[in-house]
Amino acid sequence: METSKATVHPKAAGIHWQELLVGQDDLWHGLREAVATGALPQLSLLAGLPGNVQLPMAIALAQALLCSGGNKPCGTCSHCRQVQRLVHPDLHFSFPLAKNKELSVSHYAKWRTALHKTPFMDLTDWFAGLGEEGTQANIAVAEVQSILERLVLRPFSAACKVMLIWLPEYLGRESNRLLKIFEEAPQHTFILLVTSNPDALLPTVRSRAQLFRVKAVPPQTIAAFLQEHADAEPDAAWQAALLADGKLQNALHLLGTRSTDMMDHLSDLFKAAYQYKPKEISEWVEWFAKQHREDQKQFLQWMQGLLSFVLRRKYAPELAGEAGDNALHQYIGRLAVSLDAGQAERISDAANDCLAGIQQNANVRLLMTDFSIALSRTLKSKQEQLTRIN
Ligand SMILES: [Zn+2]
Repeated sequence: METSKATVHPKAAGIHWQELLVGQDDLWHGLREAVATGALPQLSLLAGLPGNVQLPMAIALAQALLCSGGNKPCGTCSHCRQVQRLVHPDLHFSFPLAKNKELSVSHYAKWRTALHKTPFMDLTDWFAGLGEEGTQANIAVAEVQSILERLVLRPFSAACKVMLIWLPEYLGRESNRLLKIFEEAPQHTFILLVTSNPDALLPTVRSRAQLFRVKAVPPQTIAAFLQEHADAEPDAAWQAALLADGKLQNALHLLGTRSTDMMDHLSDLFKAAYQYKPKEISEWVEWFAKQHREDQKQFLQWMQGLLSFVLRRKYAPELAGEAGDNALHQYIGRLAVSLDAGQAERISDAANDCLAGIQQNANVRLLMTDFSIALSRTLKSKQEQLTRIN
């Protein structure tokens, strides 16, 4: 199983953030309008699922705020060009780190690299880039102090300044120290909070900010984006889009995986488990155990994506979107016929336990043997009475 990480190709001069706002025309139009008319509140909260478009959206919004041209963001003025390269002196960032005493400003180089490689990144991608995988994320006291200090700076070269706080849910209690400045931001200052989990914010923070929601992106839109911006072949683009769960970063990760190989391996496992053939099962477990840890995780995540698409296809076809005619889609169709909801959910939960186990360095052979036995039981279990989801 070979994998490689797909990335959106950044143009030499930087990233054209607007081009990454896939499937968000209404929201983007509304935000641009708010900037043009001076109606954007000083404190905004952009929310979307992890791996979706909210971070590029916030940067594009910052570009519109800092732009000195007409029809903001014009894309050509010096401010726009600096934002494209993430080097604008009036665009400040704050983000979670693993160590309490470290400050975001000391990690700007890594932050830029990560955003160029994975512009829709979630916390896992960011921590992988930092080499801090599996560590507890935090926005600590020292960083809060740094936010406060940067917020009182006067704009350096633009008419205003922007503070983008990524994943403020990691501020925890520390956010209390920011409440006053959130309530009454200094002049010519915009604060953009970018979250994957608005419910985890303190209610006092949430209630002060205007909420803008980024939508999940339908598969056909993702497939078109991958072909246009990530040089994907139509089949590969569809396969990634189908399993991306509406999130761009998932789609880009999936583009780097070879779905056809994964499908063959999964189908071998399902067959062996269904017929309960101990020899084939143990051969499969041996094969799995020999893969790299990252590939093992990717396989399990891929399987979960597939199962959630199976469920959607079965019970909410309107949410599954149009599908291309490809081998993966046909396989999903067959699974949708043979698995019921309870089975698909139990298999997905078991895959999730394996993922957690692998992350904690558990014995992979034992984990996957247990998984295969559970799978075998689940596949053979009598079809349950289902409540129809209408
Ligand atoms: Zn401009």
